[in-house]
Amino acid sequence: MGSSDPRLVLLGRQGAGKGTQSTRLAEHYGVMHVSTGDMFRTQAAQGTAFGLEAKRYMDAGELVPDEIVVGVIEESMVPGGPLGGGFVLDGFPRTLHQARELDRVISGDPLDLVIDLDVPREIVFDRIAGRRVCESCQRVYHVNLPPEKDWTCDTCGGDVRQRDDDTEEAVERRLELYERETVPIVQYYRALGLLILVDGVGEGDEVFERLVKVCVEQLS
Ligand code: ADP
Ligand code: ZN
Repeated sequence: MGSSDPRLVLLGRQGAGKGTQSTRLAEHYGVMHVSTGDMFRTQAAQGTAFGLEAKRYMDAGELVPDEIVVGVIEESMVPGGPLGGGFVLDGFPRTLHQARELDRVISGDPLDLVIDLDVPREIVFDRIAGRRVCESCQRVYHVNLPPEKDWTCDTCGGDVRQRDDDTEEAVERRLELYERETVPIVQYYRALGLLILVDGVGEGDEVFERLVKVCVEQLS
């Protein structure tokens, strides 16, 4: 990597570990972690009109319409905003249209690398069913790996619970949408020479090491 902060995108199925790993990568590089899902959940919890609108789609396991998503991303371009410097994008772009809009929005300073965190469908299903998330800081836990004190977040003390959209039906729907809407982005970034596939199966630490290794190799 040169002197500037990396600009990364992490793609992967729901439950591939994108949230956890992109948070760690962002910390590792000292750049912003930008998750559109977290942005929507925060706004919904605050009860903003926009957040409540997004929540309707999220709870149904639908994608939030592109205009809304791109609007939020564009807002974060303001000087000092998350997309001003280096970043790890998590959950955006998720459609080909969003990928093209991202190119437009950051045209002056393009992406460095797009990582496809690969975990087979059968495995992610189990992971999502057991997933529990901190309502305040969005830290991800699992029923097999809970916080130290009864469902109180180790990081911030917030309530740790199951997300409204982690029901079986909603997950089915989101995985289907991933194949249909997001897989085409993989091809798009491959054609641009930005894509690298990383195996996301295994322990969190192990996967993180793989990611850092790939970044070191690719960003030099
Ligand atoms: P997951 O990857 O498990 O779906 P996220 O937290 O990334 O979890 O997103 C939760 C929900 O927020 C999605 O199911 C979708 O409704 C909405 N969402 C997040 N990012 C986007 C996006 N880039 N485009 C459309 N909808 C999005
Ligand atoms: Zn927390």
